[in-house]
Amino acid sequence: MSQVNERIRTEVESISLVDTHEHIMPEAERNEYAVDFGYLFAHYNSSDLVSAGMPPRLMEAVRLPMHYYRLRHIKRLNLHRSIPEPEREDMSLEERWQALEPYWEAIRNTAYAKQTLIVIRDLFGDKCPACRPGVEDLNRGTYLQVSKAIADSRRPGWYRYVMKEKANIAVAVIDAQLTDVDREIFAPVMRLDHFIGVRSRADLGFLESEAGTVIHSLDDLVRAMRTVLEKYVAGGVVGIKSGLAYERTLQYDKVTRSEAETVFNRIAGHLGEGPSWREAKPLQDYMMHQIIRATIEAGLPMQIHTGLQEGNENIITNANPTLLVNLFVEYREAKFDLFHGGYPYIHEWATLAKNFANVYADMAWVHIISPSIGRSLLHELIETVPGNKIMAFGGDAITVEMAYGHARMAREVVARVLAEKVDEGYLAEDEAIRLAGKMLRDNPAALFRLPVSS
Ligand SMILES: [Zn+2]
Repeated sequence: MSQVNERIRTEVESISLVDTHEHIMPEAERNEYAVDFGYLFAHYNSSDLVSAGMPPRLMEAVRLPMHYYRLRHIKRLNLHRSIPEPEREDMSLEERWQALEPYWEAIRNTAYAKQTLIVIRDLFGDKCPACRPGVEDLNRGTYLQVSKAIADSRRPGWYRYVMKEKANIAVAVIDAQLTDVDREIFAPVMRLDHFIGVRSRADLGFLESEAGTVIHSLDDLVRAMRTVLEKYVAGGVVGIKSGLAYERTLQYDKVTRSEAETVFNRIAGHLGEGPSWREAKPLQDYMMHQIIRATIEAGLPMQIHTGLQEGNENIITNANPTLLVNLFVEYREAKFDLFHGGYPYIHEWATLAKNFANVYADMAWVHIISPSIGRSLLHELIETVPGNKIMAFGGDAITVEMAYGHARMAREVVARVLAEKVDEGYLAEDEAIRLAGKMLRDNPAALFRLPVSS
């Protein structure tokens, strides 16, 4: 077992990953925000801090640089979402640490904290001669050193160093609503969710300016969506992403055109906030079906968020992947890249990938939610889902460092599960090694048509 384990581990380590999903900030912007330990709390672990009882406005004050980045990001995506104002913006680094400390101690056990510690140990641990033999922890004795190492990392080539040399990622599909990304590292997907979520004249104005056309009718709205999709295609997108399970149910009913038009006409003639999400649902459902048809025609896969929503206080039942079944049944020509193991609906999610030829099982985010769920889910996938549809890694990070930390944890899960499968006699060793290459590189490369060599 131990020799097999070692050989499989070596093979898994050597694979240049095709990473299905990241949100990594542009490097130039990153250098405005990567100034101290607040940079480590971009998302995920910040949600655990709030879950542990940290007041949200205090959390925003503690991660202040990343608070400013989150504001910028929300604006870029025109999201109907806000984040709390920081309690104060004038806290010293020491005051911010003291506010964080009890909550950081409370979340140390979560996998998000473990990922953070891997990042500190491997990327920010020995950047200053004074802190030898190396920092491996975030605590009152190290937060200044860690902050200095983060500030010192703002140098040309850092992204390539972390993503290529440290994480060994060949290419990462990036969902940041930008096509202007470093193509040596990233391949962009874009969202059309703003064409679904439209609910005011201001939203229509945003769409008109992006499409460069006027929108006076439901047909105009569909045409504008197609125009924007063409722009994205010209910009080199490899897929379309939908993240609407944060805002509404994944049940996209087949509605009549006239039902959708009634909602559109109300929005077009309304000066205020427009309809609620519930009232707007027929238009949203109609537009989702239109977008799927357009992505099929463009030959693009569609990434769909299912399961756990990042942040705090959301409605998990909205994100149940089984709500999408009618779309899988109707759009057989589509390629649905189903995210996040559907966690906590993991078995339902795996069942969908087993059952439908147009559904792909994407484990993005899973290994940092729970490595043990990652392991049991990968065991289940190997036994139930064809090996050409399993995709075992998507970092889902805002920072390159967290993408690295996640890649480490994902390789650990994949190597361990494959070694166990060989040990159980379920897979032959060479079969396990071939499967590793498919799940971590070849399958996503084929789905997103990315040229990578094995
Ligand atoms: Zn994501």
